[in-house]
Amino acid sequence: MNTTSDSMRILVTDDEENIRTVVSRALAKDGHGVTEAVSGEQAMEAFVLQPFPLVITDVKMGGMSGIDLLKRIKQISPDTQVVIMTSSESPEDTALTAMRAGAYDCLIKPFEEVEVISNVARRAIEKIRLTEENRGLLVKLKQKNEELEYADKALRELSIRDGLTGLYNHRYFQETIASEIFRSRRYSRVFSLLFMDLDFFKKYNDKKGHPEGDKLLITLSRMLLENLRTSDFVARYGGEEFVMILPETPKINAFGVADEIRGKIADYPFDGREVLPQGKVTVSIGVATYPEDGSDVSSLILFADQALYQAKRQGRNRVS
Ligand code: GH3
Ligand code: MG
Ligand code: MG
Repeated sequence: MNTTSDSMRILVTDDEENIRTVVSRALAKDGHGVTEAVSGEQAMEAFVLQPFPLVITDVKMGGMSGIDLLKRIKQISPDTQVVIMTSSESPEDTALTAMRAGAYDCLIKPFEEVEVISNVARRAIEKIRLTEENRGLLVKLKQKNEELEYADKALRELSIRDGLTGLYNHRYFQETIASEIFRSRRYSRVFSLLFMDLDFFKKYNDKKGHPEGDKLLITLSRMLLENLRTSDFVARYGGEEFVMILPETPKINAFGVADEIRGKIADYPFDGREVLPQGKVTVSIGVATYPEDGSDVSSLILFADQALYQAKRQGRNRVS
């Protein structure tokens, strides 16, 4: 429906030719594009071809009545406004029925003056424009809401990620381990925590440069993601230290997982590994299991940290 200018496509339906002519002329004079129909049936034919924003129809015609026409039009195009014309006998009854069926207004024939036609059309057009505008605003509002939701999600995602590796960050690890303890306590479950630290990483940085060190951290992060289950959680704890939470995993299994990761890293052909003492990139890993090694966040982290320290002391490239 093109309703951008003040002129509007209007469908005028009446079985009396002189009424059709009077109405059409008045509307055409106001600049509207008028289509005439001699019956409800003919009006429907024109309407289904291309819906009109405004329809002015007689109520009593041979064949389909104006009320039936109104109902069918509203089914196809709920935003179309329909004005019902009725003769002065029992206008109240007709008007009531018409308004209940969704008519915009009623015109009583014979018209006292042609201005009533112009006036009712003008008001109906105003309503059409407001309805259109509201719909446009609603669509825009919905779009804005979706954009906001998307931005919110993106922000939240950024706030829980580590900028270099894309892994979860230290803060989100703290949140996650707290809720894992809560869950495990509540359902009497176990879980394990792995603390992992690169061996001799300072040496690697010194020999190869910081940017190469960064690349190694990124590759290593990808390996961790590839080798853990989707239910496991991995974060960069800071620097060259990583943490993993393995839900539903007792100590012996956690040692298995940790040693597999350690082995894969030692075997991986990292660029520049030859500068390291054993000619390869290695890690040390400390394991702590809830609840046996600690029943709250800080005691569990302390245990894992001490286990890691022990792995370092015992010679690195090992799990403790
Ligand atoms: P150890 O086997 O005892 O863990 O020795 P190490 O050299 O790995 O440990 P140390 O704590 O002495 O050094 C850690 C190094 O990690 C020093 C620091 O420059 C490097 N490092 C920490 N964060 C980053 C980072 O984001 N990028 C790079 N390239 N290096 C980092
Ligand atoms: Mg280190
Ligand atoms: Mg360290």
